[in-house]
Amino acid sequence: MTNSNTAAPETPSSEPRPASNFLREQIAEDAATRKFGDAVIQTRFPPEPNGYLHIGHAKAICIDFGLADDFGGKTNLRFDDTNPEKEEQEYVDSIQRDVHWLGFDWERLCYASDYFGQLYEWALKLIRDGKAYVDDLSAEEIRQHRGTLTEPGRNSPYRDRPVEENLDLFQRMRAGEFPDGSRVLRAKIDMSSPNLNMRDPVMYRILHATHHRTGDDWCIYPMYDYAHGQSDSIENVTHSMCSLEFADHQPLYRWFIENLGIFPSQQIEFDRLSITYTLLSKRKLLQLVQEGRVSGWDDPRMPTLSGLRRRGFTPEAIRAFVAQAGVSRTNGIVDIEMLEHFQRDDLNHRALRAMAVLRPLKVVITNYPEGQTEHMEVANNPEDLEAGTRQVPFSREIYIEQDDFREVPPPKYYRLSPGKEVRLRNAYFITAQTVVKDSEGNVVEVHCTYDPASRGGNSPDGRKVKSTIHWVSTAHALTAEVRLYEKLFAKPDPNDCAEGGSFLDNLNPNSLEIISDAKLEPSLASAQPGAPFQFERVGYFTADIHSTEGALVFNRTLPLKDTWAKIEKKTGS
Ligand code: ATP
Ligand code: MG
Repeated sequence: MTNSNTAAPETPSSEPRPASNFLREQIAEDAATRKFGDAVIQTRFPPEPNGYLHIGHAKAICIDFGLADDFGGKTNLRFDDTNPEKEEQEYVDSIQRDVHWLGFDWERLCYASDYFGQLYEWALKLIRDGKAYVDDLSAEEIRQHRGTLTEPGRNSPYRDRPVEENLDLFQRMRAGEFPDGSRVLRAKIDMSSPNLNMRDPVMYRILHATHHRTGDDWCIYPMYDYAHGQSDSIENVTHSMCSLEFADHQPLYRWFIENLGIFPSQQIEFDRLSITYTLLSKRKLLQLVQEGRVSGWDDPRMPTLSGLRRRGFTPEAIRAFVAQAGVSRTNGIVDIEMLEHFQRDDLNHRALRAMAVLRPLKVVITNYPEGQTEHMEVANNPEDLEAGTRQVPFSREIYIEQDDFREVPPPKYYRLSPGKEVRLRNAYFITAQTVVKDSEGNVVEVHCTYDPASRGGNSPDGRKVKSTIHWVSTAHALTAEVRLYEKLFAKPDPNDCAEGGSFLDNLNPNSLEIISDAKLEPSLASAQPGAPFQFERVGYFTADIHSTEGALVFNRTLPLKDTWAKIEKKTGS
């Protein structure tokens, strides 16, 4: 996925297109051969509730829900909550909200913790069958006995404990007789296996911790590898799809299921989504939150679904992006520009247009009648005529962008400058005449004349203007805070840091610029969070979740492509 798939396609569709891939082929084959008998295709999305979902999870969600749906199957949302110290109800709630927002609904809401009782019974069975034992070695000793990729491991001195002793000790572990870390239950497999996961993996650890759902019922907790496959099996999951880092765990996944003789769920791995300039690790995202590097999990710079949502990204664009990124058997990296491309494409169709001036410069139209207001009828979205029209007030004094005026225009600068005529979008042609400066020589006001015959921005006599600029009537303008976001990291690979450094060194110091007095056309007064707007010529924006009619705040989703910036860079002006 590193090469051809990373480039933004020429003609993207705004909805995901199911492409054939090895996951789909595998499921189709299993359905055709009735590998699971009468069982329907069943998948699950199994997040650990130790953080908010990020866009990498969106890929897994689209795969798990999308494929099941394509085969008439079902998908459970299962919380993989076997790690009480890191898990919280807040995360459980946010994950459900985000899965729904992305456009999916689960068949059943499940928790691995619901299976603690069953998992415990199965552990007793493995002990009775001579396939599990209680080990008194410390974590460090177990690590030393494990060996390496080139060296086989060594058996624990407790490996051949009699079954009765193992049963007794395990039951007493469960009863709370032993302190944390003093004993573990291990599967008895093969200490010389080339796969380290098969060298008598730990199944249970002692942890006197309060669980967000089971409270203090348990003081032993199953490890991921012991809980995951059995949870799949309990739910009759036919295809347990997960990212590639679990490939080495697959033999163990099968070993437990085979030795317990339970429903034969099968694990299939696909590539993990990685995106340039983006960190997709809950642990590191949590660190950003805890250290206050961002305002929270839903900071609009975060790659979390809640951050993307707050920034104005849409589920449609995220799904289309994930579909385009595809699935593969090897990990690759996708350019962030591809995600942005899908988002712009989606917003171009969906976003209502509005005029907003981020860095205002006052313009007085000297030959326009004082006290007069006209209402210009303007299309809400030229891409979608059904979006209707609105009335935008125009008057003698307006704001334009500071960038849209130069007293001394550089070469190829076609916007407003003394003696030059431009079109005010949806209004009139104006020509700059004189400027007013402050004591430091900065232009604070531009005096212009307008041509009354150019109403609506139409040329009265065929004469051409090279530039159209946006504006807001000063008397009618709303003042708003506008937050301009850039990439959170300055390096394509945020983890690429000097020795002894950390990913924090790669944070982009300019990832947020706050403009406190942007001027907006009055129709934006009641903009709802999440409703997308294109501020014409400026970018895509949405009202922040904390925006109110009295204190408007807009987040920039993405800038429009800025062709002038490129010219300016090239010519050095
Ligand atoms: P992180 O490393 O960010 O904590 P995780 O893999 O530990 O992620 P889980 O909550 O355990 O997060 O993941 C739930 C599911 O999402 C798993 O099936 C996992 O394979 C999948 N997943 C997580 N991150 C990605 C990613 N970047 N791309 C594709 N799938 C992912
Ligand atoms: Mg995990």
